[in-house]
Amino acid sequence: MAQFRILKVALDTPLDFLFDYGWLVEDGAPEPQVGQFAVVPFGRRETTGLIVDIADSSDLAPEKLKNALAVRTQLAPLTPQWIALCRFAADYYQRPLGEVAVPGVPKNLRAENPVSLNRALKKIGQDRPAPDATPAGMPLLNPAQQQAADAVADAHGFAPMLLYGVTGSGKTEVYLQAASQILAREPEAQVLIMIPEINLTPQLENNIRARFPGLMVATLHSGLAEGERMFHWLAAHLGHARIVLGTRLAVLASLPRLRLIIIDEEHDPSYKQQEGLRYSARDLAVWRARQLGIPVLLGSATPSLESWHHAQSGRYRKLELRERAVQDAVLPAVRLIDMERDKPVEGLTSTLISALKRRLERGEQSLLFLNRRGYAPVLGCDACGWVSNCTRCTAFMVLHRPEHRLRCHHCSLELRIPRSCPTCGNVDLQPLGRGTQRVEEGLQLVFPQARILRIDADSTRRKGSAQAAFDSVHNGEVDILVGTQMVAKGHDFKNLTLVGILNPDTALFSHDYRASERLFAQLMQVSGRAGRAAQKEGGSASEVLIQTRYPQHPLYGALMAHDYDRFANGLLEERQMAGLPPFLYQALLRAEAKELSIAIEFLQQAAESVEHPGIVINDPIPMTMTRVANVDRAQLLLESASRPALQAFLKVWMGVLREMKSRVRWSLEVDPVDI
Ligand code: ADP
Ligand code: ZN
Ligand code: ZN
Repeated sequence: MAQFRILKVALDTPLDFLFDYGWLVEDGAPEPQVGQFAVVPFGRRETTGLIVDIADSSDLAPEKLKNALAVRTQLAPLTPQWIALCRFAADYYQRPLGEVAVPGVPKNLRAENPVSLNRALKKIGQDRPAPDATPAGMPLLNPAQQQAADAVADAHGFAPMLLYGVTGSGKTEVYLQAASQILAREPEAQVLIMIPEINLTPQLENNIRARFPGLMVATLHSGLAEGERMFHWLAAHLGHARIVLGTRLAVLASLPRLRLIIIDEEHDPSYKQQEGLRYSARDLAVWRARQLGIPVLLGSATPSLESWHHAQSGRYRKLELRERAVQDAVLPAVRLIDMERDKPVEGLTSTLISALKRRLERGEQSLLFLNRRGYAPVLGCDACGWVSNCTRCTAFMVLHRPEHRLRCHHCSLELRIPRSCPTCGNVDLQPLGRGTQRVEEGLQLVFPQARILRIDADSTRRKGSAQAAFDSVHNGEVDILVGTQMVAKGHDFKNLTLVGILNPDTALFSHDYRASERLFAQLMQVSGRAGRAAQKEGGSASEVLIQTRYPQHPLYGALMAHDYDRFANGLLEERQMAGLPPFLYQALLRAEAKELSIAIEFLQQAAESVEHPGIVINDPIPMTMTRVANVDRAQLLLESASRPALQAFLKVWMGVLREMKSRVRWSLEVDPVDI
């Protein structure tokens, strides 16, 4: 007898509910399964959604119930755990389930396209190495590393751990050996290794592949072409890939036999998705580990205050690596250069110039860090006070001299550099301030013989050019490297003994309460590029020189002492007294409109729309950068001492806001990071 089923389908739409469709199971035909995709009529078109439940009846009136057009059976169904993960993410971040789950699976695997799916399945079958987890060339761990790796591998059930290890302490080796133990123990086990940005750390991918020659390693990140993404995603979903290395989006990969999650540089802001589903991949990873009852290892030299707080309170187990792993490699000495006394020329103080000179004489490499790309942040006219404001944003247009352009970094407006002042005609326009291009130019004047390389988003636009640039540093073809945060992350430069930090002061006085935490992490990370190998005979001791106007600032004091413990504990105390995260939970409603007053008015209405005991709703305010690309932006901050109370309120509130008529675009961020 044919059976009639009701499929409850999640669709990728802003409507926050499941859609019912009928499905007739003919005699002898397979039953539809939860976790399969169904092709369904939706309005005037067809779409593909995920079956998340199957029932015998529907609340829809029979004449309204439409039938599904097809159920896709080729792809192994997604597991209930995976669906539960998507459901949690959707609920927590206040989005419809379908918006999370459906785009989470590559298009070709959902769409009616058996050819490409078949091809991928066949290729995976062929590429699959024999199930052999014997690693190659594992170095002997030092006792602290061994203890950490064993703690992870021997953990039972949900075990969140913070690997707090100074730069160069060999955290990567702990990850690999913990993973190796787990993979060797269980022939089907999968390990997820998350990193902030894959393009900046190809070294790690190569290391992993070399280390586990017998295992399939899949990579997942936004830079993959559709075909590659499908292949890697499928390898993970089918359990063939035993190691998955990926960026934040990998946290939502389907991994049916996941046994360990590792999050490298867990403090890194890239783990936060800043549009659409604004999720924290770190937080989701911890949730996923709890769901599956497995260990999760969060590694950093400068842990986020959230994780630090958990470690201090005993919720996370703290594993420490206090020393550098390479024999005789020591942390660099950090020194401050007072710019009031040692006045810079071309942005460089005489102390820094002498230090650079010594490195050049000894054939060692130096790195100058300046987190500002372009030639100068502003072009200005001394005669009348004109400055290069962007006409569409609350921002300056940045001078890019080699490209002969003024560029807005927020709306990407581009103009030719004006020959004379647009207001008064003065031809002598002045660059104000200093970006990486200008530093590069100044350096070349001071050291005409030096081989100088700039690495920033401008110099590495072409695909593969960042890799080529980093390779040339590793190969010793560069004497002085100038770069933005792109150079701060992860690189193991062996011959680099000097790091100069050019203009970090502005972040000291930011209105953003997270700015000092971020600055410290960034400076510690870039400092960590120096002295990663043992000091050579006759070579320089490694050092970090910071040019500052505020040498007394406690942040620099902690940095000189390499004392993140004290710094982090101090910040936590401040946060507790001020009532800020992680002692308080926040959500931020943003609104965008043609005029600021419209955005503010919407937020005001939103604030008054629902009773909210236990939730503080602050006044709506313009965002710091109010206008971007001719759109005005405002925000409304919500705070609560109780996360469940905030969650419960948001659920109700979102329902009301979705029904509210307005001329704004709005979005909600839970646990916002930039406020
Ligand atoms: P981190 O990620 O903590 O900054 P890395 O994992 O990059 O540090 O390791 C720093 C350097 O130490 C690398 O060159 C690595 O090969 C080396 N290393 C790690 N563990 C050991 C070990 N047990 N013995 C010798 N060298 C090691
Ligand atoms: Zn002028
Ligand atoms: Zn602009």
